[in-house]
Amino acid sequence: MLKTMTDDRFLENFLEKVRGTLYQRLGESEQNFLKELYKQFRFSHQELKMLVDMSLDLDAWQEPGLSGMYGRSSIPPEADKRQVFLLLREHYEKTKTELKTYQRTKPKKHEQPKLKFEKISKKHTIFGSCPVRSDQTVCCNLRTLDLVLNCGFGCSYCCIQTFSERNQGKIYFHEDLEKKLDAIDIDPDTWIHIGTGQASDSLMWGNQSGILDHLCAFVRKHPKVILELKSKSKNVSYFKDHDIPKNIFCAWSLNPQIVIDHEEHLTASLEERLHAARQVADRGIKVAFHLHPILYFDEWEKEYHALTQRILSLFQPQEVLFVSMGTLHFIKPVLREIRESLIKTKVHQMSFVKNPEGKYTYPMDIKEDIFRGVFSGFSPWHDKIFYYLCMESHELWMKIFQKCYASNDEFEKDFLSMLAHKMRL
Ligand code: SF4
Repeated sequence: MLKTMTDDRFLENFLEKVRGTLYQRLGESEQNFLKELYKQFRFSHQELKMLVDMSLDLDAWQEPGLSGMYGRSSIPPEADKRQVFLLLREHYEKTKTELKTYQRTKPKKHEQPKLKFEKISKKHTIFGSCPVRSDQTVCCNLRTLDLVLNCGFGCSYCCIQTFSERNQGKIYFHEDLEKKLDAIDIDPDTWIHIGTGQASDSLMWGNQSGILDHLCAFVRKHPKVILELKSKSKNVSYFKDHDIPKNIFCAWSLNPQIVIDHEEHLTASLEERLHAARQVADRGIKVAFHLHPILYFDEWEKEYHALTQRILSLFQPQEVLFVSMGTLHFIKPVLREIRESLIKTKVHQMSFVKNPEGKYTYPMDIKEDIFRGVFSGFSPWHDKIFYYLCMESHELWMKIFQKCYASNDEFEKDFLSMLAHKMRL
């Protein structure tokens, strides 16, 4: 037992040690557990930070916490700091890397937090490149239009995190959107693929502030712009009673309902998204699907296979432009925001590896399994529609498709000619 201190001195010392960690986000029992453990073993700041993060993750995953595990363990009373720390970390790593299941946890119903609509000032640019495009991965060179910043949905894995401390539910609409769209320098002789689903959901706002009117006017002025409206919404009312330019298509991000229930909060259900896509396709507008992020969990094969069969049963290949597949890629700040938000999520209950860009993602063997598994579900359409992996390596493309592009420009060129051809532009 270490030299005794007055309680006040001890508390002061302890709070100094946990400064800069998310200790205050822990529940009272875990806070007391770590404090008592520190009294015995005087962990370093770094060790305490790791114990706090582990505790928050186990709580987010709704798995047994450190204090519960420690209480049940047969750790000898003479155990030293290193042995205790290793025991706690082993429990965490085992829980983290075991195949996760959603069967034991009830999805938390999320109430729509109050959204605060604000105007974005004049100087904010709206036109750019895909925020996660990289020369280290096989990329389609998507361009982006950020008509709205932040999103009314609350997907646990999303880097936007609108309801986080940072964003406080603020949604930003552009002032002078029309002027900003007119100011974009578009080469009239070059095909270009632009997406609007990176900074917010493309359809959930409908035609608020005239955003869809302005977009339609924009693509009418630029017939070689192919505009993708990506969404998790069912809000397609605008497409039922407006004349939509031919160079616009809608794309839905899809996941099995069990993943939507646990990880894609406030979004439309799987059936609502598929129904919305069906309604748009019935209007002669092309659709596409992003199975992204594909999650690895105990029933992934059954769940994603059912999803692929649902798409095959509801659509004809000539109505569908492409299917993209992707999976989780985390950057550290998003992991911290997920921990800070205290939301119940299992997205980060996974074995991570760092990819060439320093992002945390699934190991190659798991990626190979899930992409091959999901792609096989589309076998009747393998030669009928276009497929691509988003943010993945040349090596993985070769494993899944037995082919890959020599460059991202070649990918973009082939993708654009497919889009223009299938949309009869
Ligand atoms: S492949 Fe994915 S990450 Fe790369 S540019 Fe296209 S959308 Fe962005």
